[in-house]
Amino acid sequence: MKYVGGCTQCKTCEKVCPLNGIKVTDKPEFNLCYGCSNCAYFCPAGAIKPNLEYFDVLLAEGAGAAQSKFKRQYYVTFLKNITKECDCESDPKGIIAKDKGVLLSNDIVAIDKAAYDVITSKGTDDVFLKHNKKTGLEHVKAAEKMGMGKSAYILVEG
Ligand code: SF4
Ligand code: SF4
Repeated sequence: MKYVGGCTQCKTCEKVCPLNGIKVTDKPEFNLCYGCSNCAYFCPAGAIKPNLEYFDVLLAEGAGAAQSKFKRQYYVTFLKNITKECDCESDPKGIIAKDKGVLLSNDIVAIDKAAYDVITSKGTDDVFLKHNKKTGLEHVKAAEKMGMGKSAYILVEG
């Protein structure tokens, strides 16, 4: 992340960094960072920007690159064992939502939007925002903007 000027020393960035990696004196100093982008999203002064792009946009771009290699695509999302951190991490930091079942779709954006809605009761109980200080929708918005799919969906229960 980079400081682009205008810091008001509110220290919001210190509070939202999951690594406690920022120290604010007259401006933010980045001591530890894995690029989650929380500090940039939350800085009220717009004083922090990503070096490359917001994490969620990069995530969507990576998925888009993989998606472009396949003519037909079907997606399966297991809404089970939903953890605070990514379940690929050695310590995903505990379950934050009840199991909700399995989703199937041929649209990568629709299935992620549906997953978010099912887990959070359409955003009224955003456990991602609560636990990670960031909504679980940023990458969905980015992927839709890139034309990877549509966030509108019809949920058919079976
Ligand atoms: S959140 Fe922004 S304005 Fe507040 S201390 Fe951090 S860089 Fe400065
Ligand atoms: S991008 Fe995330 S990990 Fe890096 S300094 Fe900002 S809040 Fe901390």
